[in-house]
Amino acid sequence: MHAASAGQAAAYNALVTKRFDVCVQGAGAVGKALALALSRQGFSVALVQAAQPPGAAAAREDVRAYALNAGSIGLLAELKVWESLPAQGAATPVLDMRIEGDSRGRLEFSAWEQRVRELAWIVDAAALEQELATALRFAPHVSLVGEPAPAELLAVCEGKASATREALGAGFEQHAYGQTAVAARLVCEREHMGVAWQWFRSPDVLALLPFDRPEAGRSFGLVWSVPAERAQQLMALDEADFNAALNEAAGPAPGMLKLASQRAAWPLSIGRAARWCGPGWVLLGDAAHVVHPLAGQGLNLGLGDVATLARVLAERQREESWRPLGDERLLSRYVRERASPTWTMAQLTDGLLHLFAQPGLPLRELRNSGLTLVHHLKPLKRWLAGQAFK
Ligand SMILES: Cc1cc2nc3c(=O)[nH]c(=O)nc-3n(C[C@H](O)[C@H](O)[C@H](O)COP(=O)(O)OP(=O)(O)OC[C@H]3O[C@@H](n4cnc5c(N)ncnc54)[C@H](O)[C@@H]3O)c2cc1C
Repeated sequence: MHAASAGQAAAYNALVTKRFDVCVQGAGAVGKALALALSRQGFSVALVQAAQPPGAAAAREDVRAYALNAGSIGLLAELKVWESLPAQGAATPVLDMRIEGDSRGRLEFSAWEQRVRELAWIVDAAALEQELATALRFAPHVSLVGEPAPAELLAVCEGKASATREALGAGFEQHAYGQTAVAARLVCEREHMGVAWQWFRSPDVLALLPFDRPEAGRSFGLVWSVPAERAQQLMALDEADFNAALNEAAGPAPGMLKLASQRAAWPLSIGRAARWCGPGWVLLGDAAHVVHPLAGQGLNLGLGDVATLARVLAERQREESWRPLGDERLLSRYVRERASPTWTMAQLTDGLLHLFAQPGLPLRELRNSGLTLVHHLKPLKRWLAGQAFK
């Protein structure tokens, strides 16, 4: 056999026969971040990437812009994938957030009032995935593999339609909202000044996230959640008609908006796994919990899972290294810690959605007064800000 191919075969054999500490199944943002976090602690990690059909990535560019909170930014900074994102114009700080109801109700958060530099950052989804992938190339203990590899612990990060979760019998209760999110990039005639806008207009929820791509200072990420049928119509409209519908829905406050990318549609649901861990396996991210994107929290929750699991496993290294990584009692500590924040956020987003989905007049007046009341109730507002931005 040729020397080079003998070397490759030896490397391949070593890889397939190696038993890793952790096999991370699914290389979305949550799986990539977990692989990086565990590698930094010295664990050997196999990261399983799904095979992409040729041309799939180019055909479906991710036009989403994620709102990421301080906890997520802190984790990304630790993983050394944060610094270059604001520098390339792929992350924009939110200084002010204006939420409007469907009848004069109004709630506003400002960084100044919350005594923070920014409420959140709006981050280019594709650029974030790219930075994570680049960091992985330099991660000393991560092997990128195409098939599940033997490991002490299987971390399932396959997203909401996870087949491995199904095979493990974890159970997943899911409720489809009958709504679809239409996402796109926009440019605006006026500068965004770091202001994020959101309108609850029964049954639509329209969000504009200040952004610097494609035009610095004048772009927004759009997330427009509408009934599925309406989404089909919006997707089919030509650009001029779509812009007209969008400007009518947003009104004049942010300035005249124009599409600046393809549109993408995402069917929306709420879901939660019945079991999050078992002997030798654990669920993270959308594989464990799915929420409506109206509060921009799904990935924040997933990165919170990553930070917690990484800490639980690091504590075990220091204090109980005799315990196997797949020990269910060990993994239950992670599950207990994540139960409350993920459940609270699911209830908040689901409650808000249902409150504003009812068309009746008395309820409309009540919810709008409620929104304005929250605006004036400082402790409640602080609590809400803590849930969303920390
Ligand atoms: C319109 C919209 C806007 C959003 N906005 C925000 C926001 O502003 N802020 C926020 O925090 N969240 C937001 N979210 C939520 C966020 O997108 C998700 O919570 C997040 O992407 C979940 O990441 P994940 O890695 O868990 O799952 P995914 O992103 O779904 O990644 C799962 C990965 O696993 C792979 N995979 C699946 N099966 C297998 C297999 N068998 N083997 C190997 N690989 C497999 C998939 O190909 C994929 O790469 C938004 C969601 C939507 C739809």
